[in-house]
Amino acid sequence: MIRSFDPRTGEAFGPEFAATSEHEIEEIIAGAHRAFPLWSGTSPAKRAISLRAIADALDANAETLVEVADRETGLGKARLTGEVGRTTFQLRTFAQALESGDFVKPVLDAAVDAPLPVGHPRFLRTVIGIGPVVVFGASNFPFAFSVMGGDTASALAAGCPVVIKAHSAHPQTSQKVFDIALEALLNSGAPAGIIGLGHGHDFGKVVIADPRISAGAFTGSKSGGRALFDMAQSRTNPIPFYGELGSINPVIATTSGMTDPAAFATAYLDSLLLGNGQFCTNPSLLFVPNNKEFLDAMAVNLSAREAQPFLSKATKDLHDRNRDLLVSLTSGRVQNAKPAPETGLYTSAQVHIFAAQEISSIEAIHREYFGPTGIVITYESLGEAIAILDQLEGALAASIFSGESEPQLKEIIISLSRIAGRVCWNAWPTGVAVTTGQHHGGPYPATTSPLHTSVGVFAINRFLRPITLQGFSDELVSSLNVEGGSK
Ligand code: NAP
Repeated sequence: MIRSFDPRTGEAFGPEFAATSEHEIEEIIAGAHRAFPLWSGTSPAKRAISLRAIADALDANAETLVEVADRETGLGKARLTGEVGRTTFQLRTFAQALESGDFVKPVLDAAVDAPLPVGHPRFLRTVIGIGPVVVFGASNFPFAFSVMGGDTASALAAGCPVVIKAHSAHPQTSQKVFDIALEALLNSGAPAGIIGLGHGHDFGKVVIADPRISAGAFTGSKSGGRALFDMAQSRTNPIPFYGELGSINPVIATTSGMTDPAAFATAYLDSLLLGNGQFCTNPSLLFVPNNKEFLDAMAVNLSAREAQPFLSKATKDLHDRNRDLLVSLTSGRVQNAKPAPETGLYTSAQVHIFAAQEISSIEAIHREYFGPTGIVITYESLGEAIAILDQLEGALAASIFSGESEPQLKEIIISLSRIAGRVCWNAWPTGVAVTTGQHHGGPYPATTSPLHTSVGVFAINRFLRPITLQGFSDELVSSLNVEGGSK
């Protein structure tokens, strides 16, 4: 049975959810399989109407949804209200993209009547939906990266039915969002089976292995995402699996980028502790010049910060275990926030400080703590910091705070571009805008597919497969509802 837990008290509440049975899983997958030709054959304009219908229905129920999500996640009503807004904005953005066709650029090669190799028939290179998709919702964004988050919205936009694994940390929110979205979809003319929801740890394993599923999308842990990625690859018919896993999002400040050290310390802690540090773009690793004013200001500021609750007991336990390992390495240079309450899922924030010269192995600093733990590395010369940056694994985002005349600026930017999917100039990495120019991805382990984004209009492309229609007339193409067919 799956139960909701209130992170502020640690107590179970609300209904119990039974793990989805084998028979129910079969019905969900068979439904998605049947819905695929109907939904992918639905015109982009009609798919857009359905996406807008979901957005309107979620907005209309925002207050109730926020209430339950706040109880299950402890993220706070203000943050969660904003997240519902982001989710519905995202759905409407994909609707708009379907209407404009901006995400796809069909290529038409007119027939050339000439001997080979110059001559060829008429070609239309376009894209079609890949097939039913399984989506694993994230724990830390119960709306924007969960049941009706960016993965589901982009797959639906691409013409793919979606089978969703409800996250065990917010089963009630997942079920409510699903019920609202399903009603909106069916009322707007989408076929039965268009979306399905399952509960229980094994649900995802069964679905990802099913030959009728054509792609997977996941946001969560490195270990879980890697296990599911391996399952997707070891199938008789391997499929794309777009996993967003761990990311430490390094930030580097030069002296010219830290002109007000106290203000910089405040801004760093604000970014580090957003959502209790449970953000995929959390700045886990900060490089700064060895500056006493910064370190002193950070200590004072941190000591006044209250503890916030974790999303789940599993996340808190993993964070606390990893941090215990770190404590043994930091040789006492630790700054602390206010002590955490005894009840509920609280751990107080800490920042661990290392000098660049004492980093003999990057293993300890190269871990995603996914919680209120920061690592600050002080350097004497930028070269020391760059040498460490060059050893880091892939990240979703990275930032540089600097003036433009810094002599080693280009070197730092090259180093950050090598590892990150997004490089920010004089800005913290937290906060991922939903826009066409966005790229939320990066080399492994940030994601399992560095070629794709999970945020922004281009997220649709993960669920579209190229196809060339050879020798088809305009009339025939138009009748097929393929992207670009009406152009
Ligand atoms: P998780 O434990 O990987 O779980 C994510 C989802 O995948 C859950 O629905 C989970 O099912 C399922 N799952 C995980 N491993 C599975 C397996 N081997 N077989 C089948 N299903 C599996 O991640 P989480 O609980 O959401 O968060 C914990 C960690 O994820 C954090 O500590 C953090 O490192 C990472 N995280 C990263 C991001 C990011 O954006 N990069 C975002 C959120 C979390 P159950 O819930 O039923 O176990």
